[in-house]
Amino acid sequence: MAGTTGIIGGGIVGIALARALTQRGDQVTVLEKEARLAQHQTGHNSGVVHAGLYYKPGSLKATLCAAGRVSIREFCEEKGLPYREVGKLVVAVDETELSALAEIERRSIENGVPDLDRIDDVARLREIEPHVAGVAAVHSPRTAVVDYATITEAMAQDVRAAGGAIRLGHEVTGIRHENGRVRVTTPVSEDVFERVIVCAGLQSDVVARFVGADPSPKILPFRGEYWELKSSRTDLVSGMIYPVPDPRFPFLGVHFTRGVYDNVHVGPNAVPALRREGYSWLQWSVKDTWESLRWPGAWPLAKQHWRMGVDEISGSLIKPLYFQKARRFVPELTMTDLEHKSGAGVRAQAWGRAGELLDDFAVDQVGPVTVLRNAPSPAATSSIAIAEYVIEHYLARTSV
Ligand SMILES: Cc1cc2nc3c(=O)[nH]c(=O)nc-3n(C[C@H](O)[C@H](O)[C@H](O)COP(=O)(O)OP(=O)(O)OC[C@H]3O[C@@H](n4cnc5c(N)ncnc54)[C@H](O)[C@@H]3O)c2cc1C
Repeated sequence: MAGTTGIIGGGIVGIALARALTQRGDQVTVLEKEARLAQHQTGHNSGVVHAGLYYKPGSLKATLCAAGRVSIREFCEEKGLPYREVGKLVVAVDETELSALAEIERRSIENGVPDLDRIDDVARLREIEPHVAGVAAVHSPRTAVVDYATITEAMAQDVRAAGGAIRLGHEVTGIRHENGRVRVTTPVSEDVFERVIVCAGLQSDVVARFVGADPSPKILPFRGEYWELKSSRTDLVSGMIYPVPDPRFPFLGVHFTRGVYDNVHVGPNAVPALRREGYSWLQWSVKDTWESLRWPGAWPLAKQHWRMGVDEISGSLIKPLYFQKARRFVPELTMTDLEHKSGAGVRAQAWGRAGELLDDFAVDQVGPVTVLRNAPSPAATSSIAIAEYVIEHYLARTSV
């Protein structure tokens, strides 16, 4: 299977693929448009190594998250990188959430989440999270936190050590099929590869169009903003406190996470980003916003979920509204404990023409070009397993 492979995108998925391929003897070149690796989703996320509680049993998310968690843990052990099993508590704040909690428990068991515990005793709940309010919970002690940007850099060192090339500041502007090979152009270079893998995250649909792939699904960018708990109050949260999720949108709701460096962040929310890589309300692009509005799926999505959208936008702009939501889980929280907004990430979530969310990881094959069309959370957790999956299921077919 060895050959020359071009990988577009230096996030954790592109670099995990580059590492797996160089280890198999492939000659790999990564082209990344930014001056450093992991500048987008990989460097702007919650840092959680998910244990697989929410995902539809049998889906790629469920299977690759389970395998990926173990691989990330082993990689961190091997490289001496921080990996902390702080544990996650999914909390039902009142009786109305008990049936949804039971569904999470059922999925978790089917997905083989290790050491899962159902908690109906408030005293036990308080042993795990002394400041939490709730009537029941599911506890996943193996859910961990890491620093995905550092992990990506460590994987990149392996790529370089095995003879792979990583070219920063190389934005791919064209891909052309040429006699069974692929010509890839950037403003400063031109290369011909035997095959190409696109791992372009927020730009994955744009790059997919270069090779004539279907414009659907499209990335509609949604920003997730975080608040930071002030350092004197981080003892309010021991590990992770998560809400019972809406299975259609598990990323919604207030989450508290103790990070790998002991900071506690609250978030992310989900508000429309006015630019694909727009990390605040002030960063916007007429082109990106216009393209989102022109997408046929944007309107059914807005019509169906406008209430949720108004709620999320209000919470983003009006701190007391967000604080009220957060205090349901930690009643001792005061407004001044939410110190400042501590950054944001933009989700590369793919949506179909009818406004439907593409739930699972998705890959397209166009001749010798493999395109990752949908790799949202838990793709950082799953990155090493995604790399193995793509090699086994797609690259074998394009072997040279
Ligand atoms: C707010 C938020 C919280 C999240 N929390 C978690 C979590 O706790 N746990 C988890 O497992 N996952 C989480 N995720 C998801 C996770 O971060 C992503 O699934 C993962 O980082 C995807 O990696 P990637 O390499 O596909 O994309 P990215 O990291 O976005 O990398 C894509 C790269 O492609 C480059 N690129 C784009 N276009 C071009 C081009 N034309 N030429 C060259 N380069 C190009 C970009 O510059 C970028 O570096 C979260 C995501 C967000 C946004």
